[in-house]
Amino acid sequence: MLVSRPDMKLGIVLIPGGKGARTAFAALTVSLAIVAGACSSGSANANNGKLEVVAGFYPLAEAAAKVGGSLVHVENLTPPGVEPHDLELTPGAIADIQSADVVLYLSHGFVPAVEQAVAGARGTTVDLLQGVPLHAGVPEEGQQGPVTDPHVWLDPVLYRNLVGRTEAALAKASPANAATFDANAKAFKAELGRLDREYRFGLGRCARRVIVTSHAAFGYLSARYGLTQEPISGISPDAEPGADRLAQLAGLVKRDGVTTIFTEELVSPKVAETLAREVGVATAVLNPLEGLTKQEVSAGQDYLSVMRSNLKTLQRALGCSAG
Ligand SMILES: [Zn+2]
Repeated sequence: MLVSRPDMKLGIVLIPGGKGARTAFAALTVSLAIVAGACSSGSANANNGKLEVVAGFYPLAEAAAKVGGSLVHVENLTPPGVEPHDLELTPGAIADIQSADVVLYLSHGFVPAVEQAVAGARGTTVDLLQGVPLHAGVPEEGQQGPVTDPHVWLDPVLYRNLVGRTEAALAKASPANAATFDANAKAFKAELGRLDREYRFGLGRCARRVIVTSHAAFGYLSARYGLTQEPISGISPDAEPGADRLAQLAGLVKRDGVTTIFTEELVSPKVAETLAREVGVATAVLNPLEGLTKQEVSAGQDYLSVMRSNLKTLQRALGCSAG
């Protein structure tokens, strides 16, 4: 079961009959899960014996939910529709981190508040960036010193590695269920292998290979599939780019025949749209999967479906002939 922080508001509109009723039922199911989360945070015992897993943001929560299945209760610290880079934790969220059986997070300053809170945790805490071959990141305007790119989940091959580490963490916390976690992880890793093959095939033959993105989230994906990322902002999406960077990008768009500037749902598209208008190209949403919106959650979207829709968006923008 995958639930979000219980302290967020959720609106439900009940529409009788047909497809509307199914949507409403799905929304109701989600809301009940959230209510269940509200009464049950704390320890495994408070969750009918389920392992209590706290995850820093969506891709880690999804990995835990896929591997743990019905044996775990997963709390995502980043609510739907919120961008995790600058997440601030409520005292309740800090208490949940400290009492959870397993805490999954990313280091290297991705969400500094979570890194601080895990220091006092009683359970197994796993920094899923440990042991991953990391790339240097793109610094923000005026940022000093080296930065590390944390966006490993957008490469299906590295995400598979994270799923394996998640399985090991759950098995360590609950050895009696290790065989089930192993079977669940194998099934999810097989799906990620299929996704990787779809990307390799789908981006194999393209007219263009440069992608202009809202922030520097697609470095690992670009490295895996032979694309070149040109981000408007750096590793964190909230830094405004300078006039120099925008002029440089405008020149690059013209020179390389870029057709599309990519925006994100959780970040204001203003700068990307202005740039696109100035150089006369289109915009399209390329989802960095840092979180899903409430609409995406109720529509049953998940890591695999969003990655597949990102692939279609890339193929269209880059003029790819395969797939
Ligand atoms: Zn990011």
